[in-house]
Amino acid sequence: MVSTAPQGTSDTPQGHARLRLAVASLCGTDLHYYSQFANAGFLLQNPVTLGHEACAYVVNPNGSDLKVGELVALNPIMNCQTCEACKRGEENLCTSKKFPGSATTVPHLDGFFRDSIDHPARCCRPVAAHVDPCHLTFAEPLACALHALNKGGVEAGQKVLVTGCGPMGLLAIAGAAARGAEVTALDLRPNAVAVAKKAGAKTGLIAGEYDDADIEKAFDVVVEASGAIPAFNTALKAVRQKGKIAILSNIQMRSAEIALHLIMLKEIAIVGSFQFNREFEEAVQLIESGSIDFDVLTARAFPLAEAGTALEFMASGEAFGKIILMGSGNADS
Ligand SMILES: [Zn+2]
Ligand SMILES: [Zn+2]
Repeated sequence: MVSTAPQGTSDTPQGHARLRLAVASLCGTDLHYYSQFANAGFLLQNPVTLGHEACAYVVNPNGSDLKVGELVALNPIMNCQTCEACKRGEENLCTSKKFPGSATTVPHLDGFFRDSIDHPARCCRPVAAHVDPCHLTFAEPLACALHALNKGGVEAGQKVLVTGCGPMGLLAIAGAAARGAEVTALDLRPNAVAVAKKAGAKTGLIAGEYDDADIEKAFDVVVEASGAIPAFNTALKAVRQKGKIAILSNIQMRSAEIALHLIMLKEIAIVGSFQFNREFEEAVQLIESGSIDFDVLTARAFPLAEAGTALEFMASGEAFGKIILMGSGNADS
């Protein structure tokens, strides 16, 4: 499986391991950069290789504890380890972190959509030999979803509504269901709601096809994963008194009419959720446990060389679930 691995070279930076891509996956962030050269107000300043969700095989540990040939999950957050946020264990809020394939890091660092990757060894998490790389590529987006669940305080027995059943919403559904919450999924698209039910939602709602009164104050936590303002207003209506709304969606800058009075009347807590911290480890352990069926969350696989076609497919809106890219050694997997 790793026979075609290129050899590591002495130009691998200190503290970095040389890796060969196993599987990567597409994120909404990649699509924003691909189609608009910008994401969440950050403009690309020069061409960059996209991609921040991937797993890879170790080619050259370069003095680290990693082992040649082992599969590792890549944590894309390269934090400084010294700022106040890092000392608090909140590397997502690190003031000088680096993130690959993103305009938030200047100069930009190339992302993971390439066969040969140098990445800090401390950001590589080796996994058990039985783990399927097509599942392990979900570590980063699953960590984002788990961070939103943690910010929303989602736990067993709660009623949770997830608005938006794109890849992030689906992972929030799967993660909340794995915790023992009773999950309801809401989307405009019947196909997406069908996948949400396979992902673990007990109930599926299609926008415009349910009675508003049925969802009013019905949920302990709402996870907003659509980025659509009407969905945010639905969340304000659907959450119970003193309930929480966690914003997982990659929401873009805009002006909008929001039912702010409900926040006051019901004492709603609205929490933002940006990337992840300890949730990366939580996500890898959940993947190792095999308790989430990632195959139902995968829309389609493309070879890495067809990343452009894969992004066009994502842009078409015809994909339900995650689109993954196979590294060259995995083309036939
Ligand atoms: Zn992402
Ligand atoms: Zn820091």
